[in-house]
Order: sequence, then structure tokens, then C-alpha cells
Amino acid sequence: MEKRAVKFGGTSLCDAAQMQKAAEIVRADPRRCAVVVSAPGKRMRDDEKITDVLLRMEKARTFAERNAIFKTVEARFDAMIKELSLPLDFSEEYRYIREEAFGDFLISRGEYFCAVIFAALLGFAFIDAGEVIFFKENGATDTEKTRKIFSERLEKTPYAVIPGFYGRTEAGGIRLFPRGGSDITGALAADALHASLYENFTDVSGFLLTDPHIIPHAATVPCLSYGELRKLSSMGAFVLHADAILPLCDKKIPVVIRNTNEPEGACTVIGERVSPHTVGGIVGGGGYTLFSVFRTGIGERIEELRAVLALFERYTKMIYSVPHAVDAVGILVKSEDIRKSKDMLIRALTDELAAEKVVARENIALLSVVGEGSAEKYSSLILHAMQERGAVPILLDSGADTLGMTVGFDEKYLEMLISDLYLYAEKDIFR
Ligand code: ASP
Repeated sequence: MEKRAVKFGGTSLCDAAQMQKAAEIVRADPRRCAVVVSAPGKRMRDDEKITDVLLRMEKARTFAERNAIFKTVEARFDAMIKELSLPLDFSEEYRYIREEAFGDFLISRGEYFCAVIFAALLGFAFIDAGEVIFFKENGATDTEKTRKIFSERLEKTPYAVIPGFYGRTEAGGIRLFPRGGSDITGALAADALHASLYENFTDVSGFLLTDPHIIPHAATVPCLSYGELRKLSSMGAFVLHADAILPLCDKKIPVVIRNTNEPEGACTVIGERVSPHTVGGIVGGGGYTLFSVFRTGIGERIEELRAVLALFERYTKMIYSVPHAVDAVGILVKSEDIRKSKDMLIRALTDELAAEKVVARENIALLSVVGEGSAEKYSSLILHAMQERGAVPILLDSGADTLGMTVGFDEKYLEMLISDLYLYAEKDIFR
């Protein structure tokens, strides 16, 4: 039989009612056999995700403070058990956590309890992620070991629930993936299961063509390639963790992003692109600073460029663009990444690299129209929209990946340009 790996995000499991909805989805299709869960998320706007509560608990200074914070977690899980009438009692585990749990192990407990509850609700087996997901010493996922042990376990356990977000290190401890990492666990489960599909259930109807805060009824993009998804995530459009794609590409397992509250509604399939090249998304954000470092000949030789990059490396981990000319090198960074070190950075550029002038231009926005082939198709539209609005291009980049067109401009134009381009792109995806 064809098999599917399924993952539910935190809002899909935030309380007993949502858990019931998710359980109905799993029961509706016998191919849904490996189920990965996040920790319960927010129930309403001002609520707190269980993982965030546990992170607060980890930072608490006294046992009294830890216990008080953990009460919230206990209360949420106990309410679910009661409302779902499950024969579960976590009191011994709660006691251990209160007294002895710290670090990644503590923070992973949101996923752990959620998976035990969901497994009991479904009547599925529980598989602890600490027994089937492995990290190497350098922190990378041990894909080979994970694939082998996870596959063997799933073969013996046809229907199982697995907590997302964590695995085991070589030293035997629990280690977390980055935030949002349950998506990666779901992908590893799909790989281990030799699944025909990875269904990722969340609180939105697939990947939206643009930010719904700007375009309230933004359309769902029907399909995306793996590369487009990674590019969109890197630009801030976060629906699926970008690294979740990695275990799926080789075997070409497609991912479908569905809404738990509307499982048969619009969705996005991520895999090998089948449709003609259309826009995959319009994504943008402000808060960038472009440093222009001027000195005669500085942009001519690799060693000069390397020296500029090495200097920036001291102050920030990420750069977003390196436009350069013969007598100037530009480095685009996130303003908040260098907020505290901006003056030191300028001083170092002047003193150590003998820059004749350093100009830091703030409040820049980047906007990308992502999609294979969209650079050719959209460059003139983007420039036309910018000209109409009076926005001057500071940066123009069709990308080394040829997966889209990115422009930089004063951030005050961001929302209007997204709205303008959305009108063209919406027609394009439904052509
Ligand atoms: N619970 C974790 C987080 O909030 C992991 C996840 O939900 O994927 O980031």
C-alpha cells in the first residue's frame, strides 16, 4: 500500500478540539501511517506556545520560578487528557521535569507530551524521536543512521506518532532542530517510510502568493519547486522550514501544505515543477542597511573583497548582497544584526582597510518575485511599477540561482509595490 507521512503544526494541536480535528484527518485515510507532531501552539492571539513557555522555564533562575512556569504546561496537557477522556497520567514525568530537566531535553518536552497524547487518541504506537533521529557530533543530522533505524522501526510499527523537533546526539543527549524543526522531522519520517507524499497540515491554506497582512485574500500558489520554496523561506516567507526539503529532493517525495481547518480546501504542492513557469511568490521585507565602502581600486581584486568580507564577518553572520564596482564595495546586511556594532564597523573599515569614505544607507527593503523564469518575465514590470511609484532602485539582482528577481529600494514603498505586483502575479498563476 502507498504510505504517507503527515505532520501537524502547533496550532493544529493547540487544544482538545483541534486534536480531534487532526485525528479525524488521520483516520480519514489509511495511507496516513506516520504522524509527526509539533508542541501545542497558541489557542488565541495573546496565548503562548508551549515551546516558548518551556524556553522561559529554561531561563528561570529559581526552582520556585521554574515550577510556577511549568504549571502552565501541566495545566494545558492535563486539560487535553481530561477533555479527550484518555487514560494517561503524566504526574511522575512532570515531577522529573520540574526537578531534573534542563536544556534541549526540557524544551523538547512539548513535542513529547503532545505525541503521547495524540498517539493515545488515535490508538497508534508512540515512537520516541530520541530513538530514531540522530545527530552527528558537528550538529548535522546523521541522515544515513536516521534513515536506517527509523525505517526499520516504521516497518515494525505500521501506524505511529512521533514527536517532532528533536533527536539524539552521539553522546546520548537530546538535541533540538532549529525553531520550526518539526517540519524536518516530518521530512525524515517521509524519507524513512519511503512515502509517496508528505502532508504538512498547518493553519494556512498552503503557500500564499504574498503576505496576507498586505493582501488580505492572497491566493494560494498551487505548486512550487523545492528550490523556489527554499528561496521564499530564505526571504522570510515561512510556511515550511527550508531544511525540510533536503531529505525529500533525492527521492523526489512531494510535500503538500494543507489547512487543518479546511483539509479539502486550497493547498500547495512542492516538488518537481510540472506547470509552466509562473510566479511562486512575492516576498519582501524592510530593515536592511547597505554599507558602501569607497577606495580607489577596492572592487578590483579578490583579496580586497575578501578583506572587506572578513571584516564584516567579525560583526555579523549573514550578508544579503555584495554589489561592487571598481572603486566601491557594497555589503547589504540586516540593520538589527549590526545595530550595536555599526560605529565600530565603520571605524574598522576606515582604520584597517583605509576606506576613503563609508556610507551606510538605512531603511532599505528587498522585494523578490520568486519563480523559475520570473526574472525575465517580471523585470520590466517591477521597474515599471517602481517608476510609477517614484521608487529608485538601489539594488537589482536576478540571482545566481535564476529563481527570481530581487530589487532593493526605500522601505516606504514596500507595501505599495507588493500590492501593484500582486495584481499581475495573481493573473499569472491562474492562467
Ligand atoms: N515547537 C517548536 C517551535 O515552536 C518546533 C516546531 O513547532 O516545529 O519552534
